Amino acid sequence: AQERYTSIREKPAVTKDGQTVNLLMNAGLMADLPSLENSGAEGVGLFRTELQFLVRNQMPKRSELVVLYQRVMEAARGKRVVFRTLDIGSDKVLPYMKPQDEPNPALGWRAIRVGLDKPGVMRMQLQALIRAANGGPLTVMFPFVAQFEEYRQARQEVDKTIEREKRLGHVLPSSLEVGAMLETPSLGFAPLRFFEEVDFLSIGGNDLKQFFFAADRENERVRKRYDSLNVSFLSFIERIVERCDISGTPLSFCGEDAGRPIEAVCLAAMGIRTLSMRPASIGPVKSLLLRVDLAELRNIISDARHRGDQTVRPAVMEYLRGL
Ligand code: PEP
Ligand code: MG
Repeated sequence: AQERYTSIREKPAVTKDGQTVNLLMNAGLMADLPSLENSGAEGVGLFRTELQFLVRNQMPKRSELVVLYQRVMEAARGKRVVFRTLDIGSDKVLPYMKPQDEPNPALGWRAIRVGLDKPGVMRMQLQALIRAANGGPLTVMFPFVAQFEEYRQARQEVDKTIEREKRLGHVLPSSLEVGAMLETPSLGFAPLRFFEEVDFLSIGGNDLKQFFFAADRENERVRKRYDSLNVSFLSFIERIVERCDISGTPLSFCGEDAGRPIEAVCLAAMGIRTLSMRPASIGPVKSLLLRVDLAELRNIISDARHRGDQTVRPAVMEYLRGL
């Protein structure tokens, strides 16, 4: 099936009305890296670092992490890689960490909450990333940020680690971007100042949807009730896009919906111009992007919202069938 898309692999994703959408890939293991060449991805929009922790039976050493991250950066050959710091807890439990007895793990002690409360592992990871960058650019992203202060604290950890590395005589990254995932509704309502301070944002649609609709992403029975093209959810996405436009914050979307062609073109129509997805989705998503007119699609979405439709999907499907 991938062969079908080889002819458009090197083509940029430019829509009928001349809008360019950047297509990036999600990765997490070394085995994913060859796809960076084959898929036509312009970079790695989400590198899930916890996967390399999950496939082991003991905590990796810093020196091992340096080697791993170096290999990732080398395989990327100068393309940007967004390293997401450990996103553990909830569905991702490290076999060598004390299990937490929590009634609602998805709402529990996870991701950046662990990183800020017990900063040892986060510091080690940041050091390893800085050393692996070896004087080149570095991009770090924190998962599951729910309020401005958490981002500020995490950023302080980055600054402190940079200072420490400098004192130790290590070469510092030529440039450093520190972003956050927007995957809790609260962060969408953070003060504008937050949007100004953060270097970039990436919407984690899987978690964002789960918390927006209060519907467990692992529970098919409840999850299926809520369409990603639900008008309330799209209103929220629109709000985030507007905030980012005002503050000039680069915004991307890296949940599974970015890799679903219909959802992807709708996200692009809502103003999200960078999408990160599993490598195999890049071809199908690009193929549809090349055929749509985002301004037209935006009007169709807008009309459906004004009519009070629950989801814009039927209207969008009708438009796509007419192409
Ligand atoms: C998300 O929540 O949408 C996301 C990209 O992160 P993960 O699926 O790893 O939680
Ligand atoms: Mg997530």
